[in-house]
Amino acid sequence: MRTLALALSLLAFALAAPGLAAAQDVVIDTHVHLHKGEASIGDYRAQLKAKGQSVAAFGAMWFGGPNQALAGNPERIRANNDALIALAARHSGMIAIATVHPYDGAAAIAEVERVAARGVKLLKIHPHTQRFDAADPRVLALVRRAGEVGLIVVMDNANIVANDNENLFNLALQAPKTRFIFAHMGALNFRFWNMLALARTAENLFADNVYFDISATVLIAADSPIEDEFVWTIRNVGVDKVLLGSDFPQMSLPQTLDALDKLDLTEAERAQIRGGNARKLLGLD
Ligand SMILES: [Zn+2]
Repeated sequence: MRTLALALSLLAFALAAPGLAAAQDVVIDTHVHLHKGEASIGDYRAQLKAKGQSVAAFGAMWFGGPNQALAGNPERIRANNDALIALAARHSGMIAIATVHPYDGAAAIAEVERVAARGVKLLKIHPHTQRFDAADPRVLALVRRAGEVGLIVVMDNANIVANDNENLFNLALQAPKTRFIFAHMGALNFRFWNMLALARTAENLFADNVYFDISATVLIAADSPIEDEFVWTIRNVGVDKVLLGSDFPQMSLPQTLDALDKLDLTEAERAQIRGGNARKLLGLD
């Protein structure tokens, strides 16, 4: 009964403030791979249309699948970044996620500066597929520079490399002026990130510069024995720090939204995760 009363008062509020209600419905997918370039955008949109799902914006990256962005070929990486920026200009709602390889050193730093000047907001680097060590000093130099030029650094955090959580945590501490998005929130090792609730209590340690996407992991956690711990982790890292990602084409946005709906979060918390947090972080208002 209390639920019904609450629903009715929310409905009355939504009718009185349609702009706000619409804003709460915003869905932003921060994790899309274009394995097939522009054709993947069509596939992505078709998948959404089939489920009647709309998306306000989606962050898309070139690499993954056949495009591994390995070290030693910065010209190829630059060309791919330019192709991605051109695609984003043609497809409304698409946000380009550029990449570089940290071991390309000065060329990688120059590319970070160049894409930032071209309006790119997100940079993805991936220790596993790009075969680099997140603890390497070239990674720290790169992410520091990325932060200085206003880029948000997305890193894979699926824990398929050794010391993944520990390396990323220390990287975030050493680059306090850079904002990070750790994709998959540690996957099955997500419990580590409850540490952030304690890190915040240590004086001058943690700059609260870490966001997470819960792509893939949310599918495993929903309606599972670990769901309560997963929700507890989301609250400890900060609900305002959690973003939605599909990891298309491996996973779909509709199945990710279904999984999010199953989590025992409040509707307001789910709305933040669906798009409110990403809107603020990416300045989409
Ligand atoms: Zn991915």
